[in-house]
Amino acid sequence: MSERRVRVRFAPSPTGPLHIGGVRTALYNYLFARQNGGDLIFRIEDTDSTRFVPGAEEYIIESFQWLGIKFDEGVSFGGNHGPYRQSERRDIYRKYVRQLLDNGKAYIAFDTPEELDAKRAEIENFQYDARTRGLMRNSLSMSQDDVKALVDAGTPYVVRFLIEPGEDVHVDDMIRGDVCINSSILDDKVLYKSADDLPTYHLANIVDDHLMEVTHVIRGEEWLPSAPLHVLLYRAFGWADTMPRFAHLPLLLKPIGNGKLSKRDGDKLGFPVFPLEWHDPKSGETSSGYREKGYLPGAVCNFLALLGWNPGEGQSEIMSLEDMVRLFDLSKCSKNGAKFDYIKAAWFNHQYMISRDDSEWAPDFAALLEKQGIHSTPEKLTEVVRMMKLKVVEYTDAQGNKKKRNISFITDMWPLTRFFFVAPAQFDCEDKFIKKNWKETSASDMAALADRLEKVSDFSLAGLKAEIDPWVEETGMKPWNAWRVCLVGEGQGPDMYELAAFLGKEETVRRMHFAIQTLG
Ligand code: GLU
Repeated sequence: MSERRVRVRFAPSPTGPLHIGGVRTALYNYLFARQNGGDLIFRIEDTDSTRFVPGAEEYIIESFQWLGIKFDEGVSFGGNHGPYRQSERRDIYRKYVRQLLDNGKAYIAFDTPEELDAKRAEIENFQYDARTRGLMRNSLSMSQDDVKALVDAGTPYVVRFLIEPGEDVHVDDMIRGDVCINSSILDDKVLYKSADDLPTYHLANIVDDHLMEVTHVIRGEEWLPSAPLHVLLYRAFGWADTMPRFAHLPLLLKPIGNGKLSKRDGDKLGFPVFPLEWHDPKSGETSSGYREKGYLPGAVCNFLALLGWNPGEGQSEIMSLEDMVRLFDLSKCSKNGAKFDYIKAAWFNHQYMISRDDSEWAPDFAALLEKQGIHSTPEKLTEVVRMMKLKVVEYTDAQGNKKKRNISFITDMWPLTRFFFVAPAQFDCEDKFIKKNWKETSASDMAALADRLEKVSDFSLAGLKAEIDPWVEETGMKPWNAWRVCLVGEGQGPDMYELAAFLGKEETVRRMHFAIQTLG
């Protein structure tokens, strides 16, 4: 076979929001296309009109825009293998259905759903195949005239694939190696339905991969059972020479317990399973998204890439898309499912957040504060980020234990930085830090410190240090924790001089007098 240009595709069905597993599939296709100097196609597989969900296609496109995964051609991207939406390719499929019928590779069947149900009730483990097709109403069991009469009368029919039994069908999978299945276990799959004049997934998928010159089919493990059928279809069409190579990716598994990752796991443990927030048009239900939760697109791509593949010893886990294009190796993907470690996802996000310039946090931080009715300047916000970005927050793990982690989302900033913008309005006398550090002498110490601060001429970090350090030394006072109670209201926050400089003289002194009055 001559060297063909690498062409891969991501081919979602617009049946709802894109699941995070689908994002990983698209990402692997993207990495593979880029590293081979090939093309990535975006195809919409919408031949099942009963499962169509309005807005899903737009949602998927917006998700990839946000993630920075770029397509070369397809729906909304153009290209000369279109149309790329299967519902717009009816004429093409009709021709290929005809070809299979004419070559005796497929046949017409008239069995109604009721008739099929009746057969299922009659025959245990009924399957429409070599053993049973003779008992059914189809163009193999009926006369040509009868078939023609029914078709001409507009009787609904389907076209089924004629599967020859007793043949070992091999799928050469780039990840799983040789996967072999005997054709006797396959049923005569429906390829086309006259009722809506549309092919089913299997036919449309194979015809399109062929016409779009796809060289590699990289998709989720759930499609592995369809692969032998697809191999047989390529042969039936006479396209075995240009059949794409298959790679079926490992499943994404639940963070705890066994089985496939589901939306319910995310709801229970508080992580999204969709890239963007999704508003279901039917139920009105909203599902959370990585973007809205405060994940950075680079971090999402990075942690997803590592679910099923790793770059090997000695290579940092933190990788840009360019790094991954260089290092990715489809043949080194795991066969085994990958546990969805959402705590690790947060860790990746932390890494990506702190690797940014402090000022880059400002827009998201500003938006977070706006929700609390607080307005600040980018300069001030950048300052707060510099002081606070390496602090830790508490979280509850999957077993219900309280643990600490780094700031991983912009939303972590609000409880940690509230006091920069809102003065303590009351003090929790049961708070351990206040109990321990607000002593008999605290009120008078703070009054003295407030007096001294009033006289500071340069209320910057350096100025405060230069004037207050010697005064503290002189008085022998240890004002720090009580001062923290005054300005923060609890036992956290940055260096006290930094905080005072940020608040300014007036606010600093005001908070101190309020604490003295309230705590006494
Ligand atoms: N339309 C299928 C899906 O929704 C595509 C499967 C494939 O890649 O062959 O995932």
